[in-house]
Amino acid sequence: MLANELGRRGIRVVLVDQKPSTAFNPQANATQARTMEHYRRLGFADEVRAQGLPPDYPTDIAYFTRYAKYELARFQQPSPKRATEEIRNLSGSWSAAELPHRVSQKFVEIILRRHAESLPSVSLHYGWRLTGFVDSGDSVDAEIERVEDGLRARVRASYLVGGDGPHSFVRQHLGFGYTGEAQAARDFMGGRMFAIYLRAPDFYRLVPHDKAWMYVTFNSDRRAYMAAVDGKQEFAFHTQLRMGEDPEQITHAGAKAMFERGVGASIDAEILDCRTWIAGRTLVAERLQKGRVFLGGDAAHLFTPAGGLGYNTAIDDAVNLGWKLATVLRGRGGPGLLESYEAERQPVARRNTGYARKFADSLGLFAAVPELEDDTPAGAAARLRAGEYFNRHAREEFNIPGVTFGGRYDGSPIIVSDGTVPPPDAPNLYVPTACPGGRTPHLWLKDGRSLYDTFGFEWTLLRLDPRAPNAEGWRRSASELGLDLTIVDVHSAEARDLYAADLALIRPDQVVAWRGSGREVDPSAVLSQAIGKNSPSSQA
Ligand SMILES: Cc1cc2nc3c(=O)[nH]c(=O)nc-3n(C[C@H](O)[C@H](O)[C@H](O)COP(=O)(O)OP(=O)(O)OC[C@H]3O[C@@H](n4cnc5c(N)ncnc54)[C@H](O)[C@@H]3O)c2cc1C
Repeated sequence: MLANELGRRGIRVVLVDQKPSTAFNPQANATQARTMEHYRRLGFADEVRAQGLPPDYPTDIAYFTRYAKYELARFQQPSPKRATEEIRNLSGSWSAAELPHRVSQKFVEIILRRHAESLPSVSLHYGWRLTGFVDSGDSVDAEIERVEDGLRARVRASYLVGGDGPHSFVRQHLGFGYTGEAQAARDFMGGRMFAIYLRAPDFYRLVPHDKAWMYVTFNSDRRAYMAAVDGKQEFAFHTQLRMGEDPEQITHAGAKAMFERGVGASIDAEILDCRTWIAGRTLVAERLQKGRVFLGGDAAHLFTPAGGLGYNTAIDDAVNLGWKLATVLRGRGGPGLLESYEAERQPVARRNTGYARKFADSLGLFAAVPELEDDTPAGAAARLRAGEYFNRHAREEFNIPGVTFGGRYDGSPIIVSDGTVPPPDAPNLYVPTACPGGRTPHLWLKDGRSLYDTFGFEWTLLRLDPRAPNAEGWRRSASELGLDLTIVDVHSAEARDLYAADLALIRPDQVVAWRGSGREVDPSAVLSQAIGKNSPSSQA
């Protein structure tokens, strides 16, 4: 994603990844709406939405004792096709250009890679690892090594970004640890997880329930969640290992047996891949920057994947850092611009990992009673209670516009505050606001376009009142600062009310940098602050 953000701006990028290619295991399975909006900005949201589940496949979240046994609860969600239709009629919390898409990360990575490869200034090198680096103050000298044969090379770059995952060599080389909770113990989602990627062509025939995207089991023997990967036969089954289960000793036959415990019946299954990972982490790196070196993604924060936030928070890191690095490399950003990356992203990482932890507690601390699967009145009562619990839980974990859209950069030195207070942060509620520091409010225009589609790729000045002062001063200031500013006129009472201002300055990452009437400020001072060139401008 960062290669895409930088490459789209003509910045030379060398990406090394020690893996031979993009991920084979599905890994994360939820692309949140905000991430989809970023893909839309880059022009490939439709390509992503076409991947994974078939267009008419429901993206329900459903809970079972075991998949072929009792269904306990279900949160119905639209198919990919319906999602693109429905979003045009949603308002309030879900006023957005895109709804979430339930697609495995392995498919998204292929699209991100293809687009990055098509950019002339980007060169991708899979099968190469970073083995050392020195930040000399003027540049970073990195040593890389080809995994296959140990061939070594050096790269001199202006900046280095460690998006190198949970065991980040870059983070460790910088001397930063993670802070937070290293290991929560829970009945589920708190311990060693075993990720089984498998093919089970008979699954939909055997399971007597409606299709779902997310299948969760609840019993006292084999708890698991499983994402439908292609809607036909492939699944990503994640189960928590019990005491004494050694992943090294689990054969494909053993993995198939685990899956069968989740299904509650014997079923044909071809095991494609097995991995372990740790659930129960709520960790954020002590620092996200040192000199010319930055951290992003799992290297900067580690989640328990309840709520599906790890990969999505990583995407937002890349979006935030991308335009800032490009602005500085073009000689336009001030000294505060790159420092604002940590100031903005570290609090969001703490916020998002905290939300994920709460979702994991809600899911994983609720344990099954022994009679849950019994065909008795006591069993039926236990299932009813569990169903009520999961019906509530599902809506809290999976209807999260507040988490998705509500991350804010209040207090950032490059946000020009207008002194207003944003609405309270809440996971399941998002109140659109143009209070500077948050995602710019969305609306659909009368001609059917998303407001976001009218924005420039870099800076946008929204003129929401025809009587707002002439934009010439903004245009001139932007030009003097070397910034690409698009001026967009949206003259509707709805838009003016939504933004509660005549003018709003939108950053390249679609965050409101400033709003006002335009009469009270010097555009040059506002723009300068927004690119870290001077200290906060005084605002009424
Ligand atoms: C098996 C598995 C299942 C998961 N399931 C879920 C899920 O269900 N839901 C969810 O939200 N999240 C899940 N995650 C987490 C999610 O995949 C991550 O949050 C996301 O991938 C973060 O992206 P990243 O680019 O920061 O890190 P990664 O995807 O880990 O990518 C880091 C990359 O850095 C490379 N690398 C590491 N060291 C070096 C080096 N020295 N030199 C060169 N390259 C290096 C690695 O090869 C890797 O490709 C899962 C992860 C795994 C592994």
